[in-house]
Amino acid sequence: MAEKKLSGQTAIVTGANSGIGEGCAYSLGAAGANVVINYVSKPETAQAVVDKIKADGGNAIAVQADVSNEEQVIAMFKEVVKVYGTVDILVNNAGLQKDAKFEEMTVAQWDLVMNVNLKGQFLCAREAIKEFLRRGIVPERSAACGKIICMSSVHEIIPWANHVNYATSKGGVRMFMQSLAQEFGDRKIRVNSICPGAIKTPINTDAWNTPQALNSLMTLIPYNRIGVPEDIGKLAVFLASDDSDYITGASIFIDGGMTVFEGFATGG
Ligand code: NAD
Repeated sequence: MAEKKLSGQTAIVTGANSGIGEGCAYSLGAAGANVVINYVSKPETAQAVVDKIKADGGNAIAVQADVSNEEQVIAMFKEVVKVYGTVDILVNNAGLQKDAKFEEMTVAQWDLVMNVNLKGQFLCAREAIKEFLRRGIVPERSAACGKIICMSSVHEIIPWANHVNYATSKGGVRMFMQSLAQEFGDRKIRVNSICPGAIKTPINTDAWNTPQALNSLMTLIPYNRIGVPEDIGKLAVFLASDDSDYITGASIFIDGGMTVFEGFATGG
């Protein structure tokens, strides 16, 4: 039987009833972690993820919380500690886009993206870190006191016209992650970001659901395929496990080479 690198550890994955979060939940479950499927809407899809993890021999529960709501985030962590005893891993994945031409962007569109993509990461990381520090290191489970994985994007470094709120939030995630890694390194809390390129999920359907759209997307991706949530899940397991024990404060790009700027392949 394959070694289960995360046995006995508990992972909260925010926004885990769709796309990348769902992919991370399956990979973490297969690696032996108890997985908390956080969701804000569509409880039936969260339950389906729980059922699939359990059918594959893992442990999972679904917990509702809007990550941008302080009370709900605190309540979620309380419930998880009640059920599983502690939290070892947080995957700060929940995120959304509200795209608009900049001059037409409403305050509501700006605030929603900042509240979910940035404040949500703050609220969840704060509760996770409090719990990590309360529990301390358990050497049988992990060399680290806790692991936080922030779902960022290639847009933490690639500017994105007509998506200014989203790109700004991901640029913020980069500094958020690095500052946390600096503040908590001596307490053995590792904080890293995953920066996906184009991954096939509901957030970017328009980029891949017609052959024309997919062809145009491929002009940005040297490796010439769109990513899938499982690609991200494998990286999340690595960053959550002691295999990456000397990695903290890192943004890991997982993008089929998008950040080498394919458009310049012919000399610019
Ligand atoms: P998705 O729309 O499939 O999933 C987003 C998830 O976040 C959903 O489960 C949604 O319900 C949840 N969510 C939204 N608001 C929430 C809230 N207030 N509280 C709790 N959950 C909430 O999209 P995805 O592509 O899986 O995106 C996941 C993350 O990956 C996001 O942070 C996104 O910015 C990032 N990302 C995606 C891509 C991509 O190509 N798909 C690329 C780079 C980064």
